[in-house]
Amino acid sequence: MPGPLFVLILEDRREDFEIAAHALRRAGFDARCQRVETEEEFRTQLLAAPDVILSDYVLPGFDALGALKMLQESGLDIPFIVLTGAVSEGTVVECMKRGASDYLLKDRLTRLGPAVTRALQESALRRKQRESAAELKKCNDRFQQLVETTKVIPWELDLETWRFTYVGPQAEALLGHPIEDWYSEGFWSANAHAEDRDALFRLRSSPGASAQDHDFTCRLLTSSGAAMWLHCVVKATTCNQCTRIVRGFMMDITELKATQDSLARHAEDLSASNAELQQFASVASHDLQEPLRMVSFYTQLLAKRYKGKLDADADEFIGYALEGALRMAELIKHLLNYSRVSTRRPEFAPTDCEAVFAESLANLQLVLSESGAVVSHDPLPALSVDSSQIGQLLQNLIGNAIKFRGEKAPHIHLSAREQPAAWLFSVKDDGIGIEPQYFDTIFGIFQRLHSRDEYPGSGVGLAICRRIVERHRGRIWVESEPGEGSKFCFTIPKEGAHAS
Ligand code: ADP
Repeated sequence: MPGPLFVLILEDRREDFEIAAHALRRAGFDARCQRVETEEEFRTQLLAAPDVILSDYVLPGFDALGALKMLQESGLDIPFIVLTGAVSEGTVVECMKRGASDYLLKDRLTRLGPAVTRALQESALRRKQRESAAELKKCNDRFQQLVETTKVIPWELDLETWRFTYVGPQAEALLGHPIEDWYSEGFWSANAHAEDRDALFRLRSSPGASAQDHDFTCRLLTSSGAAMWLHCVVKATTCNQCTRIVRGFMMDITELKATQDSLARHAEDLSASNAELQQFASVASHDLQEPLRMVSFYTQLLAKRYKGKLDADADEFIGYALEGALRMAELIKHLLNYSRVSTRRPEFAPTDCEAVFAESLANLQLVLSESGAVVSHDPLPALSVDSSQIGQLLQNLIGNAIKFRGEKAPHIHLSAREQPAAWLFSVKDDGIGIEPQYFDTIFGIFQRLHSRDEYPGSGVGLAICRRIVERHRGRIWVESEPGEGSKFCFTIPKEGAHAS
């Protein structure tokens, strides 16, 4: 024991105090004894928290029962041993009833040592029990805080009776049914949505079979009759005697379910309107071709028959009409191309990108030789792609690199880099470049940054490129510095790609 034992002795007779102190030392205690004889002195010394209290039964103006009462009111747990000259059964019973640890006759103080030892041991035991109870309460409070105050409802169910044996108190707040209703027979059948009643009963495949760990989603009706979607996670207990008990959690996923449903509806609407738009673009561009052919044919006829026969204005106007018709034919052709890329499913097949690239260059032969362009490339992989679409993609990008060239003959490089999940391609040129604010817009349909007088074109090429890359589940973007050149990058995921 650390330090001497602090013993408070309530005794009016000094020699009795000395005898008690002596008896303690003789019993081997390193005791620091303090005598008090009045109620006031006792109250003051109590504040110093003695280890043990020895008390005479009766003193002038105070007694052991009064001292015991004061000790209990202080809330301190200090062993209290009553010492007296005479013994009566009544006083013994009274003292023990009031909480004294022991009762000794003053002429039998040989028992004092063992009595103090036992009282100290009992007091230490009580302190330990109090500490364990406090620790247990702390754990319990933490568990309750964690489990019973969230929106996740813990529960336990007996598979024999199909009754809940425990439900977290939040169940009442979340679904509105009083907790005692949850424990009643038939609660599940009465409140599960008609289509989901089987969800619980499926937990046990056959009578006597033990429950399985399980996840399921079901609807329970709230007290107001609304259906609440719940995701249930079930853990079957493993001990043999309790195979009939399952425990789990229920989570309110009504909002999540509503969001999922509305997302699915949106996706459906979107794909329907997308399909409609694509069909519209395809039909419109297709059907416009016929009247346009008539317009072109008759304006050409007009030009042929009446050129030079009317006045100069008429010749000019016929020229404009012809040019407009040609331009429109061009636009419709591009629109048709764009809608074809959107409507036709890509036909994925193992494709040698080297061959596709060579074919694109062959198609660009005229502009290549006119511009004196030099096109270099990295070794290209074989991939599972739609070869005609990838050919068109390369042709559009290289064609643009030539069209938007600078003063000198263009140098163009096609690079291909393998990444963990995709191939990264880029077409780099040393042409006029693009201002950063147009990096996104240029991929939109009919988006151009120059007039047709400066550069011919219809603004559909990059929109087609984006469509092709997206249909291959890749990404396309541009990096550029005006006056320095542009780099058009795109990825083609490897998934489904065939290694060369
Ligand atoms: P088009 O070439 O018919 O104008 P695109 O859709 O192919 O249409 O390109 C859209 C616009 O993006 C072009 O008008 C041009 O301003 C810009 N652009 C495309 N490629 C390049 C390039 N390599 N260098 C500079 N500008 C480019």
